[in-house]
Amino acid sequence: MSDRAARGAIGFHEALIDLEAITSNVRALRERFGTEHFIAVVKANAYGHGAVPVARAALAGGADWLGVAVIEEALELRAAGIDAPIVAWLHDPDERFDAAVAAGVSIGVSTLEQLRAVAEAAGRAAAQASVQFKLDTGLSRNGLQRADWNAAFELAAGFEQTAQLRVDGVFTHLSNATLQDDVDCLDLFDEGVAAARAAGLAPGLVHAAASAAALRQPDARYNCVRVGLALYGLAPTQDPRQARELGLRPAMTVQGRIANVKRVPAGTSVSYDYTYTTDRETTLALVPFGYGDGIPRAASNRARVWLGGGVHRIAGRVAMDQFVVDVGDTPVAVGDPVVLFGDGGEGFPTAEDWAEASATINWEIVTRIGGRTTRRYVRGDADA
Ligand SMILES: *Cc1c(COP(=O)(O)O)cnc(C)c1O
Repeated sequence: MSDRAARGAIGFHEALIDLEAITSNVRALRERFGTEHFIAVVKANAYGHGAVPVARAALAGGADWLGVAVIEEALELRAAGIDAPIVAWLHDPDERFDAAVAAGVSIGVSTLEQLRAVAEAAGRAAAQASVQFKLDTGLSRNGLQRADWNAAFELAAGFEQTAQLRVDGVFTHLSNATLQDDVDCLDLFDEGVAAARAAGLAPGLVHAAASAAALRQPDARYNCVRVGLALYGLAPTQDPRQARELGLRPAMTVQGRIANVKRVPAGTSVSYDYTYTTDRETTLALVPFGYGDGIPRAASNRARVWLGGGVHRIAGRVAMDQFVVDVGDTPVAVGDPVVLFGDGGEGFPTAEDWAEASATINWEIVTRIGGRTTRRYVRGDADA
């Protein structure tokens, strides 16, 4: 905990975000992938880490693009003064794209209607819009259906003639089901990219790989990767050892201070529904985090936290604002630091431990942290 102490007093409930970890993770991934372009995905408030500071830290590590889902997220980055290229790919059906075009946001296009709407917005603004085609190659989620590819490419080639827009990229998103499934999708993607070129388009960015494919399938990298999870120091395999082997450090530590401590006899039941009852005299410590802060209720009686020099399991239900841990005879006091998850290399439970305890994935564990949790930024060990 010396390093933790060096970072100053711990807040009541906070997520400590190590921006130096983000920068160094991007640098390590950039080097490993070796692609011409690197899109740092900072959607959903940078997976709970805070969009603006994370975007800056990722750019400092060598990312040359930012990726978000919705245009509002891109505009938030622009409003903070970030002028790096940004792509946004999920749109309101009524979106008219004026704000995106004015802000120079590259627009991921998944339907012919969106393509027409972007061209109209560019016409209104007398500006040239940047478009990137999102091709559905199997995920059956967002993206242009294959039957529409040629029509979309031809329409776009026409709009390029009148300088209303420029097709800057073609991309797809993979399922990570099996390696073969992803290979099949990439084969189809190659056809799509070839068809776009045959229609006269010259997309500068070709991208398919998010964290998982970028790590396991070098031929999915094309000239650009679109990385979220790994830049936060987490591995898509749900194995924190893999992240460490890749030289990645988890950027988020969720921690707080014990709000109450009581010594109780055997037979004491704990929290809603009394799903936990002590089997001996023991000490209960109250942790000021609940599902109102993004802690999964499904982790009740399962996840562990670091407290008093060791890890202890949640006792009873996670409530909206608080949960209890049974620490046995470990001496703990009100105000002691408690770490819910952080860097496993420092002995803390990990986001992956919480994911396993809650039957979910590390992506969800970090992204849902919010509510009353304060984000506190540190530059990392070097200048803490
Ligand atoms: C969220 C997202 C990513 C990033 O995925 P990770 O698995 O977190 O790296 C990339 N591309 C698209 C289209 C996404 O929606």
